[in-house]
This record gives sequence, C-alpha cells and structure tokens, in this order.
Amino acid sequence: MRFIPYGHQLIDDDDILSVVEVLKSDWLTTGPAVDLFEKELASYVGARHTVAVNSGTSALDIAVQALDLPRGSEIITTPFTFAATSNAILYNGHIPIFADIDPITRNIHPDEIRKRISSKTRAIIYVDYAGHPCAIDEIEKIAREHGLLLIEDACHALGTSYKGRKIGTFADMTVFSFHPVKPITTGEGGAVVTENSELYAKLRLLRSHGITRDVGDMFGEGASWGYDMQLLGRNYRMTDIQAALGVSQLRKIDSFIERRNELAALYTRALSDLEWLDLPRTQEHVTHGWHLYTILLKGLERSTLFPYLKERGIGVNVHYIPTYKFSYYQRHYPQNANTFPSTEDIFSRIITLPLYPGMSDEDVEYVSVRLHEAESDLKISI
Ligand SMILES: *Cc1c(COP(=O)(O)O)cnc(C)c1O
Repeated sequence: MRFIPYGHQLIDDDDILSVVEVLKSDWLTTGPAVDLFEKELASYVGARHTVAVNSGTSALDIAVQALDLPRGSEIITTPFTFAATSNAILYNGHIPIFADIDPITRNIHPDEIRKRISSKTRAIIYVDYAGHPCAIDEIEKIAREHGLLLIEDACHALGTSYKGRKIGTFADMTVFSFHPVKPITTGEGGAVVTENSELYAKLRLLRSHGITRDVGDMFGEGASWGYDMQLLGRNYRMTDIQAALGVSQLRKIDSFIERRNELAALYTRALSDLEWLDLPRTQEHVTHGWHLYTILLKGLERSTLFPYLKERGIGVNVHYIPTYKFSYYQRHYPQNANTFPSTEDIFSRIITLPLYPGMSDEDVEYVSVRLHEAESDLKISI
C-alpha cells in the first residue's frame, strides 16, 4: 500500500551536487558555504544579519539568551506549538507564560497576551502557526506599550509575508528551522535573523562558545594565539555541508511555497462539500506558507477517523499537543487547562493532512476520496 507522509523534503540533483562539492573542498564547517547561506538568507528575507546554527531549537535558545534578561523573567508565548518554543525560555532560566490562541488562525491571540502581562513580563515569542503569519501589528503595539522584546518563531513561515513585507524583519529576532519537514531543509539546521547589529554580534558569539579572537591587548602585543571567552556560548555551529544544501534549497523556496499553495487550494476545493469538516482559512493581508494543512472535525471523534486514515496509508498527524499538557510542564509549570478554551477546543478536534511540495495532485485526490468514503463507512452525520 502507498503511504503519504504528512511532510517530506524535496531534494534534487542540484542539491546533491552542491553538497558533494563541499565534501571535496577544504571546509566542512565554519567556511564559505556558511557565509554564503547567511548572506543569501538575509537577502531573501530582506534582513541585515543572519546567524546560521545547527537547529531551529538552537536558534531559539541563543535568541532568548541574547535578550540578556534577568533570570526569572516572564516570556509570553503560545502553547499551540512544538515544545522547542517554550523550552528555549526554560533553558535560559525564564518563565513561560502561555496565552490562548485565535481559533481561526491558531496563532497567539493579542487580547490573550494583554491578559497575561505582569510586572515581570519582558518578551513575547510568537509562532506563525502552519505558515500563517500572526497578528503582527497588534503584537508590536503591545510590545511598544509595555516595553517588551519580540522573538518571532517563524519555523513554519520562511517565505511568507505580512501586509506585503516578508517575514524576517518584524521582531527583534526571527527564528527559522531547516528540519526536513520545514519550508527548506539542511538536514538539521536553523537561523536567527535580525536588523540589530548588537544582537547580531552577541548571537555570533553565543553560537560558538562565546569565544572571540578580537582580544585587544589582553595578552600583550604579538599574541596572535589569543582569544577570549566573553559569553557562556555553546557549539551550535552549522556545517558547510548543511549550508551548501541550504543555499541550493533556498533558490527553490518560492516554487516550494507556490506548490504548497496549489495543493492547499486543491484540498480546499476537494473537501468543501464535507459538512463535518472545518477547513483552514487565510487572512487577506498575509501570504500563507502552508507548512501544515489542518482540518477540524465536527460531530465525530478524532479517535475514530485518525486510525481509519492511517490504515489507508495517509500519514495524518496532530499539530500540536498543547505544551502545558506535557508531564514535564505539568510538574514544573502546572496550568489550568480551562485558561485556554480555544487551544483545548482546537487540539481536541484537529488533524493534519499530508502536504509537501513533492506531493502530487493525485495524492490529494486519494486523501479526498478516502475522506469522502469515511463519511459513509463511519456513518458520519451532523
Ligand atoms: C520545528 C520547530 C522548531 C524547532 O526546530 P528544529 O530545527 O527541529 O530544532 C521550533 N519551533 C517550531 C514552531 C517548529 O515547528
């Protein structure tokens, strides 16, 4: 039986060639391919600076660290995301404060952010869920009013735009991931993009042990062996092997997103007659990256439909289990689920359907036919 995964990379011969070229070169890490990838990513999103790292999680971690907040600061974020978003807050000794989502976009709701602000709030991390940009104007207004710093977790949203401007230059720092299911891939990889030169300098240090060779006369004249460790950094460096793949993938990002949009439109057309499904919508003022195509069930339990589709080779998934439900979070940051009615409702009914640029029109048709058959097989009526 065929199996259609929920997400998959699209690797061509030119991707393979560019990686092989690096393998034959002198530089496997911290070389020219990393510089080129950073330059091209910055230029693509229209930003000044990019720091490439070994994962989106590392990118989030150094972005939070670069904020230089006093320990125990509160950072407001969405619970409807991958665990890495709020884990980055914990790595740095801060407190994640979850705010409920907008049930339409599933992005953090600006009104809910306002409700969660306290005297200890210092920053907001917002996530462009599924590749649909957040209510950025409203979030920026809140940040201005309360003097808060902003990190955009755009791991789903490379190549999308908000009010005609590419995602990447709105927040103080914007974070991308290049995991295989994301808009482009480097195997594992991530990046922080910023307009701020001071943050850029800090991010570069934090990526590589906090070490600089720029030591002034710390060890006296002629100490060309000298280096200094200025911050408690890590080794989060991206290899040139990854970066070469990134450069070649980035050249195809617009066609990847175009294909994702075509497939999403095909789904929406094919499924619009099924009254027991709520289909995802796009707001006027954004372009959508369609990292995920999600459906909401009405009058039917997910536990009935999910295995039905899995048995038919459809790689359905659930994005996401709200972060506060994980046992680690329950132990350390117990939350009352009633505080998040929209997150709870969406989580209980959502299913992610397969969507990736290498998917065929026939694959969408196959999923659609199976969903139509489910209506009678599972005696769905609303
Ligand atoms: C994938 C993802 C991350 C983490 O990225 P990795 O590259 O897998 O470490 C963080 N936040 C969101 C919203 C993601 O989807």
